[in-house]
Amino acid sequence: TNDLAVLVQTLEELDGLSENEIASAAAAAKDRGHEGKWLIGMVNFSGNPVLDSLTNRELRKKIMQESLVKANRANENDNKPVLLQMVNLRAERAKLFGKNTHAEHVIAVQTAEHPDNVHAMLRKIAPAAVRNAKAEAEDLKKSAGHEIESWDWGFYTEQVRLEKYNIDTSKMRPYFELESVLKNGVFFAANKLFGITFKERPDLTTYHPEARAFEVNNEDGSKVGLFIGDFYTRDSKRGGAWMNNLVDQNFLFNQLPVVVNNLNIPKPPAGKPTLLTYDETTTLFHEFGHALHGLLSQVKYPRVSGTSVQRDFVEFPSQVNEMWILWPEVVENYARHHETGEKLPQEWIDNLKAASTFNEGHATTSYLAAAILDLAWHSLTSEEAAKVTDVEGFEAQAIKDYGLEFAPVPTRYRSTYFSHIFAGGYSSGYYGYIWSEVLDADTVDWFKENGGLQRKNGEHFKNTLLGRGGSIDSMQMFRNFRGRDSKIEPLLKRRGLL
Ligand SMILES: [Zn+2]
Repeated sequence: TNDLAVLVQTLEELDGLSENEIASAAAAAKDRGHEGKWLIGMVNFSGNPVLDSLTNRELRKKIMQESLVKANRANENDNKPVLLQMVNLRAERAKLFGKNTHAEHVIAVQTAEHPDNVHAMLRKIAPAAVRNAKAEAEDLKKSAGHEIESWDWGFYTEQVRLEKYNIDTSKMRPYFELESVLKNGVFFAANKLFGITFKERPDLTTYHPEARAFEVNNEDGSKVGLFIGDFYTRDSKRGGAWMNNLVDQNFLFNQLPVVVNNLNIPKPPAGKPTLLTYDETTTLFHEFGHALHGLLSQVKYPRVSGTSVQRDFVEFPSQVNEMWILWPEVVENYARHHETGEKLPQEWIDNLKAASTFNEGHATTSYLAAAILDLAWHSLTSEEAAKVTDVEGFEAQAIKDYGLEFAPVPTRYRSTYFSHIFAGGYSSGYYGYIWSEVLDADTVDWFKENGGLQRKNGEHFKNTLLGRGGSIDSMQMFRNFRGRDSKIEPLLKRRGLL
């Protein structure tokens, strides 16, 4: 991956990139001993963020092509042999556990219960996703004046996004100031739904000066627990955003929860406000959804407290919390210009909503291709696994079998750099993102049908589901909450796939 980085000789070729991106490419080149040149590093998915703005088509093509052969070049860093070994060992282990395949072994304890159920769901989505991706390609082609290749997709998508929806995310940042998003947005919505209040406790010493503690109380004054917000990036922190529990709520030892939200927002210079991107705002609402799962837990045993639920269920409550970001009462309360106090213009809010299905054909197709690749590798019996030698052929066939082959939209991860399933804990579990989104979209519909941001709705969600942790069967909790089994239509509608 490192030596696939693309060295750029002239500044002209970088046309379209921001000053920051150019400066970091220059710094990266210098680090590798190429002072005066520019280096575009590889990232761990198919494609690269710079493809969205780079105007030089040849350079885009080179970057995309190199991104697709990571760890797949018959050198000492080629992951194919170790990948095959892992697939074989996993199939063998599944057999020892009395299962046919690794996927059956893993999914047996998830809410999906069996790979067949996952396939049934994914097959409902796949045809519509590819159909939409092809329609999107036609749209982009009109704007580009030529056929759309994978290296053109991001670039023309950004152009069309600007033309069609007039969304310039950089202009929105002054309206998303961290303190206001946190207190007048995230905390505000939680207060309306669950009646809980937040009081910052600077007197409490945490593990780092930047980690801020908040005391959380119920409306009757009784204690809920502690919330710690650790928002800025720093050298000693790992990347990404996540929630973790320092203390799990439980009645066994009568412990109240202590939960942490971590983000990686660049710290502004001293005295300057922290202005978030729309994505960072979304992340804050999302991670706080996990925090609520931990804080509102009402269970006896720590082992089933809060977010201790199945992997294909755990993202669901946090995804639901994202519904409040553009909810009128909430957005009006927090999205204010940090200098003038003026509200985020309604037209921009409408545009953000209108754009929510934009490019979803592409996003869903590339995601699904990766999800079925994960299932394909792990749906082999040990006898079948032993016979596979051609990694690329296997990959192509798996994607084709699902009707997902469409060259302008490569799978989000190819096998040799699919770290979720070969290095992380997501083997036979990558489907979980969309599986839990089915529940999320159905829940969002329930809130809308029942009057939205209301105390009684929050209470019902908490009593039937959010507060139950893993103490009740997940799908039973969902039925208790929704009054029926989940339906897939709300998700299809949300992604523009109906
Ligand atoms: Zn999450």
